[in-house]
Amino acid sequence: MLDNTRLRIAMQKSGRLSDDSRELLTRCGIKINLQQQRLIAFAENMPIDILRVRDDDIPGLVMDGVVDLGIIGENVLEEEVLTRRAQGEDPQLSILRRLDFGGCRLSLAMPADSVYTGPECLDTKRIATSYPHLLKKYFDSKGLTFKSCLLNGSVEVAPRAGLSDAICDLVSTGATLEANGLREVDVIYRSKAVLIQRAGELSEDKQALVNRLMTRIQGVIQARE
Ligand code: ATP
Ligand code: ZN
Repeated sequence: MLDNTRLRIAMQKSGRLSDDSRELLTRCGIKINLQQQRLIAFAENMPIDILRVRDDDIPGLVMDGVVDLGIIGENVLEEEVLTRRAQGEDPQLSILRRLDFGGCRLSLAMPADSVYTGPECLDTKRIATSYPHLLKKYFDSKGLTFKSCLLNGSVEVAPRAGLSDAICDLVSTGATLEANGLREVDVIYRSKAVLIQRAGELSEDKQALVNRLMTRIQGVIQARE
């Protein structure tokens, strides 16, 4: 087991959030050597261990209390919260701060030549997505239903492959959609990276460290504004 007196922070190992997450921690003064392909990196100058994992695992690690803090996209966090609630659990965690990176939107997209006048156009249709619970929340709020086609990758090829009528996927520039003959028709969720903390009290030392980190993060983000 890891040393439980050290603050554990989970971040994405490699992907769209990893560079910005590492930079934020570094700018907070945490000296970490992330060069090696290690799961865990130990900070040299503070009692902090960094866990580098798939982003999808981060909400669960925080909710299950395996790590103290995590840096994660709100889209992945909210989907995990809704998934756990659907399973009858009551996931607990707190959002310490919205961060200034990882911005993207979860959007509905349809074949470029289709007509769209509102989400009712997609009522009862089949929609490919990696975010079935976020999509259901949106459709529920409109009093609509859809048939789900759950894909954890290559969502944008589903309509062309005849698997779905539309997709619900993350977009930042729209270039991927265009390359696949799709058109963004509605935004259902806007996301950024957030810093989250597990439920339950931290030890006095850990809490003091988190407070210090929060002050530094505030300074880092303000300096970038
Ligand atoms: P992992 O291997 O860790 O599971 P992944 O392939 O699921 O990685 P990434 O593509 O690296 O995930 O995206 C991680 C997060 O980055 C997304 O969940 C989202 O919050 C954010 N993000 C920012 N811009 C984009 C974008 N254009 N497309 C997808 N995600 C984006
Ligand atoms: Zn992922």
